[in-house]
Amino acid sequence: MSTDSAISIVWIYPDLLSTYGDRGNMLILARRAALRGFPVQTIEVRSDQRLPSTADIYLLGGGEDGPQALAAQRLLADGGLHRAVAQGSVVFAVCAGYQLLGGSFFAKGAKCGGLNLLDLNSDRGPSRAVGELGGTIDPRLGLPPLTGFENHGGRTHLGPSVAPLARVTTGIGNDGSTEGAWRGKLLGTYSHGPALARNPALADLLLRWATGMDVLAPLDDTWSDRLRAERTAATAVS
Ligand code: GLN
Repeated sequence: MSTDSAISIVWIYPDLLSTYGDRGNMLILARRAALRGFPVQTIEVRSDQRLPSTADIYLLGGGEDGPQALAAQRLLADGGLHRAVAQGSVVFAVCAGYQLLGGSFFAKGAKCGGLNLLDLNSDRGPSRAVGELGGTIDPRLGLPPLTGFENHGGRTHLGPSVAPLARVTTGIGNDGSTEGAWRGKLLGTYSHGPALARNPALADLLLRWATGMDVLAPLDDTWSDRLRAERTAATAVS
């Protein structure tokens, strides 16, 4: 991102991947950037439109199996996300969006090809993972514990060239042990909520990656801090 231009945030396929308030992730990023004085441009790209390949941040949300498989097909045919990643854009992906960044995932009982942008594959678990999701985030990212809500049938298996986003303390995440994955400026999670409303420090990490800034001015995160404390206490006693 150059200093005189806006931070551009693309929400990919809101018509297919927006099951759990995923618009909230875009709103949180835009708000937190604007509060620091950055001009921001948000762009919603429907699945029948071409994806711009020069934006700063791309967002992929959650979705049911059918829309998820369709989104993967259209993103593969479009190629814009691959070009964006090759030129260093940030990608934040949730649940179905996270799964489709890998090599393969299952939707409606069929194995589907993913985008191969992260070294991971997803299959189906013995039961649906539904409920609070929490974990301690990779210390290299310097973030407070992850919190969120998960609802997925898939289980995700990481290859050697990605790192887990977190170690699970509550819920299932990838496989009951690790949760999410990241490599470079690509990051995926099973956390809904929306994830960036519940984890504002994660939003700021994406903004730091996009701007190249090591530090951003602090904001008042009292409400999300309280929610994290409340959910951590509630899941500890349940
Ligand atoms: N369809 C996928 C699954 O069930 C993703 C679900 C979601 O995005 N919440 O695993």
